[in-house]
Parts: sequence; C-alpha cells; structure tokens
Amino acid sequence: MPIHAMAAHAAKKPLEKFQYEPAPLGPHDVEIEITHCGICHSDLHLIDNDWGMSTYPLVPGHEIVGIVKAVGSEVAHLRKGMRVGVGWQRNSCQQCEFCQTGQENLCAKMGATCLGNYGGFATAIRTDSRFAFPIPDALASENAAPLLCGGATTYSPFRLYEVRPSMKVGVIGIGGLGHLGLQWARAWGCEVTALSTTPEKEQEAKRFGAHHFLNTRDAGMMKKAAGTFDFLLNTVFAPQDWGAWLDLLRPNGKLCVVGVPSEPITIPGFPLLLGQKSVVGSVIGSRHMIAEMLAFAARHGVKAQTETFPLDKANDALARLKANRARYRLVLTV
Ligand code: NAP
Ligand code: ZN
Repeated sequence: MPIHAMAAHAAKKPLEKFQYEPAPLGPHDVEIEITHCGICHSDLHLIDNDWGMSTYPLVPGHEIVGIVKAVGSEVAHLRKGMRVGVGWQRNSCQQCEFCQTGQENLCAKMGATCLGNYGGFATAIRTDSRFAFPIPDALASENAAPLLCGGATTYSPFRLYEVRPSMKVGVIGIGGLGHLGLQWARAWGCEVTALSTTPEKEQEAKRFGAHHFLNTRDAGMMKKAAGTFDFLLNTVFAPQDWGAWLDLLRPNGKLCVVGVPSEPITIPGFPLLLGQKSVVGSVIGSRHMIAEMLAFAARHGVKAQTETFPLDKANDALARLKANRARYRLVLTV
C-alpha cells in the first residue's frame, strides 16, 4: 500500500501531493498510521533548505502521533493498536559511547525522521520502534504531537543544566517551542518571564505560566531587567543581539540556545567572563528524556495550544507559521 504524503520538490516551493512505497518492515520497525503531525519551525528550515542539507522530494514532519498498525519480529514493547509518538530522531547506532549512556540524541550516526527519510506529513510512516513512544492516556493526540520535538527540546535543558525551582527563568521567543518552555518553567517552580517581540502575546504567555512579560524591543524594559536571570532559554532563529541576552543574566547565569540561529553567534567578551556566564546548547532529547517529559506533561497538564489544519492544507499552515501567526503550534490532522 502506498503512503500518501505532502512533499516539497525543491527549496522554497509549495508542498505537493506525493506518494511512495515504504521499505519492507524491518525486525525493529513499526508502522504507524498517522493521525496528527505538528509543524515545527525546523520543517520550514528544511523546506527552504536554510541549513544546506535538504534533499528533495522532502516530506516534512517530525512531531508525529498515530496508531501502531504493524510491528517487526523483534518488537516487544509496542503492539498493534497502541497510540505512539515519534520525534526528530528516527534511529541511532545503539553502540557508541553516547547511545550506551542514554544520550542517543548525541549519536553521530543518528537518523532524522524527515531529513533523508520521508516524514510525518503523510498518512503513515515506517520507522524504528525504539524511537516510538507510547503516549500517556491523559494527553490528547493533538496536544501531544508537538511535545515529541518542541516539548522534548524545551524540557531537556531544565534537566541537563540543573535548573532549580528557586531560579529566575526567561524564555525568549514565544512560539511553538517557547510556549511549552513557559509551561515547563512554571511547573518546575521557577519565577518565569516571557521575552517576546510580540506584545499581543502577553495575556496568553501569562496563561502558559509566565509571571512577567518583557517586550524585548522595549529598551527601557530590557535595561530594567539587566542582571536578573539565572537561566534563559532561547528559541529564536532570527538575527539577534547576543550581548543583550548576556546583560540580562546574573553572575553564573546560563543562556541556553535551542533555536537554530540563522547567523553565527557573536558574544562580547567582558559580559561573558566578568559574570562567569555561559552560553550552552541543547538538541532535542534522549529517549529517556522524551519518555520522562511525556510523563511529566501528563502529570502537570502541560500541553501544546494548537490550531489544526487538514494534511492537504499544509501550505496554508506553513504560510501562517512563517508569518509568526501560529498560536502556538499548528498541527496537521490526517
Ligand atoms: P516558531 O513557532 O516560529 O517560534 C519562534 C519564535 O521566535 C516566534 O514565535 C517569535 O516569538 C520569535 N521570532 C520570530 N521571528 C523573529 C524575529 N524576526 N525576531 C525576533 N524574534 C522572532 O518556531 P519553533 O518551532 O518554536 O522553532 C524555533 C527554533 O527552534 C527554530 O530555529 C527551530 O529549527 C529550532 N528547533 C531546535 C531544536 C533543537 O533540538 N535545538 C528542536 C526543534 C526546533 P515572539 O513573537 O514571542 O518574539
Ligand atoms: Zn522540530
């Protein structure tokens, strides 16, 4: 049975209907009938070939939720009929130092769900079952799909960089990732600030858990907030003033970059070293972190605020995301 999908055939081109025959189901594989797929800004970066690594036809989509239709001979943890999710990573070597210490997201041989493979803007996917995660009953599929990438990417930094409840945390960029970042920070017990270029987002940001809202284009507000943050989670991809973020940090503060900046990060020396500040990165999440994140979301009611589009309207959804009009994660329904 062919899989029906939406694919880009060249950089920056609209998606078109596309179908393909999946590879045979391997012993560790699972076939998932997709019901929902979130649209991450990375999908837009891939379609536009912003990173110079896209191959076409390109079927985007790596925030997948669906129902298991078939499992390979070696699959023991999933059964037909289970509801599962798949994120950015589709496999790893399972042998390197990082795979063996539960950091598969750092494996040099990791495979990506929609880069070099056909992704989730589709009716189904065949992929490695070891990177498919049961979805807790408490989470609706529509709200859970964005957790598979956006949720994992914003949750992991709290664990990796040992954010504590006593800390003042800022989330920069209140989009798909950022609105989840606010919810984790609040559930973590932190004092939370939303840092945004869009003042209209203030009320919603506060509903997601922000105690404060900082318009980053307001020089007065930025000055007043100088030296007040322990941890800043930066989800923005646009060119930005990196020195300004360092100025917002207290001594020993950390700026964690998860958005993929379109230009090299330029850091002024004195603000970095005088306060012993750090600039760190984080990429998606390990399998263990994703499973933990899903359980945490179910327990604390963390969920993506979504707007849905049918799969064949993917181009309309992509245009909305590009215009920064998504509130807050667009999800395709199949
Ligand atoms: P998104 O929904 O488009 O949100 C990005 C936010 O950035 C926007 O909502 C906006 O927030 C802000 N922004 C947009 N244009 C801006 C501009 N010109 N100047 C300043 N701020 C601007 O995107 P997303 O899905 O959250 O993804 C964000 C980034 O994370 C992308 O680069 C994506 O590739 C990356 N990503 C990384 C990982 C990882 O593993 N590290 C995983 C997933 C995604 P305000 O309106 O509040 O300013
Ligand atoms: Zn993503």
